[in-house]
Amino acid sequence: MSEIALGILGGGQLGSMLSIAAKKLDIKTIIYSDDRDAPAQNFCDEFIFGEYFNKNQIYDFVKKVSLITYEFENIPFETLNEINKLKTVSPKPSINRLIQHRLAEKDFVNKLNIRTTRYVSVEKRSDLDSLDDFLPGILKTTTMGYDGKGQYPIKNLEEIDNLNIDFSKEYILEKLVKLKKEISVIITRFGNNKYEIYEPIQNTHENQILRKSKIPADIDNVLIEQSKEWSIQISEELKYIGTLCVEFFIDRNDNLYVNEIAPRVHNSGHLTINAYNVSQFENHVRAVCSLDRITLKKLHDAEMINLIGEQIKTYRDNLNLKENEFFFDYQKKEIKDNRKMGHITILK
Ligand code: ADP
Ligand code: MG
Repeated sequence: MSEIALGILGGGQLGSMLSIAAKKLDIKTIIYSDDRDAPAQNFCDEFIFGEYFNKNQIYDFVKKVSLITYEFENIPFETLNEINKLKTVSPKPSINRLIQHRLAEKDFVNKLNIRTTRYVSVEKRSDLDSLDDFLPGILKTTTMGYDGKGQYPIKNLEEIDNLNIDFSKEYILEKLVKLKKEISVIITRFGNNKYEIYEPIQNTHENQILRKSKIPADIDNVLIEQSKEWSIQISEELKYIGTLCVEFFIDRNDNLYVNEIAPRVHNSGHLTINAYNVSQFENHVRAVCSLDRITLKKLHDAEMINLIGEQIKTYRDNLNLKENEFFFDYQKKEIKDNRKMGHITILK
């Protein structure tokens, strides 16, 4: 085993897949999560359960590791920042703070002259009265949202009061884009102008949750180049180290918009495990641990299907895979509606 012990904050499926990739590189993983049942404990070398604000426990964790990364973005900034004073945290805590906040994130992207949806900050209920212009739209909490949580599609002002929205929170109202397609670009940055980038992935969402991802995306070269160029620009501007994902919308006139940035490995990149010589997870571990960069090579076209809630059952009960199919069970303790339980990747 190498001397490196990689600390990972967060214990979901992304933590599991990072642990598997690290093991392949002979790197030990220690996961810290505030979920006693975190599924990644089945895949890492050591697991610590504790709250993200528990200073003593976080300190014990930090003592055990060489460096630290995270697998979900809603880790408190204060925690990341304190840890970063003792051991390197990659990507940098300031990046996480920026991207955690939907308004700051969109302001940052626009400053780079990159298109986003139209948006406006909403701090109280009455702000909405003058925002007809942004309807139909989606009201989103500025922080802590994922998989469509904390989001309210709004067609007209009349319906808002029936939605029981908690206006003690801060929101962003985004104009609805008439979507033709959604794509994502995953990039791993190792240092100044040193990166590996995957081809754009086409994504299908159901109820604001990712259902399917595939490569190649059915888009023309202009969109392929534009989405990659913007992703490179964003990761260079952030001086990012590790794997980052940029989610894009494409409207009916083939206009490209950045939807959001994920400062971590991403669900749409699960297919990179089987479709590329180096997966997004291995690349993340390589970048944050300062290992060699290997030129990316696509081995297959592929499709990935998320198994949500009860959909996992058919596969658990009767696993009948063809040679080109790969099944991953996240081993979550409980099956819940709208919860990602596993995925299957089909190579073409
Ligand atoms: P999350 O953080 O939950 O992933 P997103 O902002 O990416 O939140 O929204 C989830 C999905 O909801 C998007 O992938 C898209 O399908 C849909 N959606 C969100 N915002 C818009 C919008 N402004 N216009 C059209 N569709 C949207
Ligand atoms: Mg999203």
